[in-house]
Amino acid sequence: MAEHSHIEWTDATWNPVRGCTKISPGCKHCYAETFAERLRGVEGHPYEQGFDLRLVPEKLWEPLRWRNPKMTFLNSMSDLFHEGVPEEYIVAVAKVMTAAKWHTYQVLTKRAERLEKLLNTKLSFAAEQNHIWWGVSVEDKKYGVRRIAHLRKASAAIRFLSIEPLLEELGRIELKGIHWVIVGGESGPGARPIEKEWVLDLRNQCKKSGVPFFFKQWGGVRKKSAGRKLDAKTYDEFPDRVQYPVSSVEECIDHARNIEAIFGTNGLVPLTNLTAVRNPAFA
Ligand code: SF4
Repeated sequence: MAEHSHIEWTDATWNPVRGCTKISPGCKHCYAETFAERLRGVEGHPYEQGFDLRLVPEKLWEPLRWRNPKMTFLNSMSDLFHEGVPEEYIVAVAKVMTAAKWHTYQVLTKRAERLEKLLNTKLSFAAEQNHIWWGVSVEDKKYGVRRIAHLRKASAAIRFLSIEPLLEELGRIELKGIHWVIVGGESGPGARPIEKEWVLDLRNQCKKSGVPFFFKQWGGVRKKSAGRKLDAKTYDEFPDRVQYPVSSVEECIDHARNIEAIFGTNGLVPLTNLTAVRNPAFA
């Protein structure tokens, strides 16, 4: 969606899918839904169809056009592993991530079963790439914690948990094979409360297991004033980031052509033509 992001743990967002449907309590105040539904019916706007799920193939090439390496959050306005997104399209998105490998990607889902299944099969070519981080959302014990087991069973070089909005004390969670934990409270109107003890418990578990810990925010109705300090400290830890060189424009065009050759002719993935890649703005 945007070359720059206000999300504390990323630089940019990339949305080759838009829209989603709610699946668990963490979705109750989904910011993406609120944003998209406000724009429903606005003619010509990218969110003219509100939060209805749809593929946005014209956005597929975006990371190949970004020349500066970015920490990129995939699908901030959707869920790549939503049951309505065809497998072929998910594979095309992963092909772009492996081609534009000078960026680091954060892929976050609440559909942990599908993530596990695809990383172990059709996405195996992307699973072990250390510039793609695969994560699940964990908001509570009933729906969230069980996603961790699916993530741990998925073949992946880097796995992470986004424990946000944290809705209750989670108790002991299995952190073996997890490389990063983000924790945060809910923000905005009707925000559900977070307790300091819940956060401290997770911070301590991460510390004990040697897992980088990122505390995003306390949240609340006025999240700015609540801030993001925990016991007077800001926790901004990340996994080690691998930096690959930026491909030339010619190489990017070749990558796009190759991906289009795989997917563009089978009718399943209506990829955009290469005009956008050739655009002078690309260079
Ligand atoms: S899965 Fe994510 S994008 Fe989809 S409704 Fe829930 S919070 Fe929103």
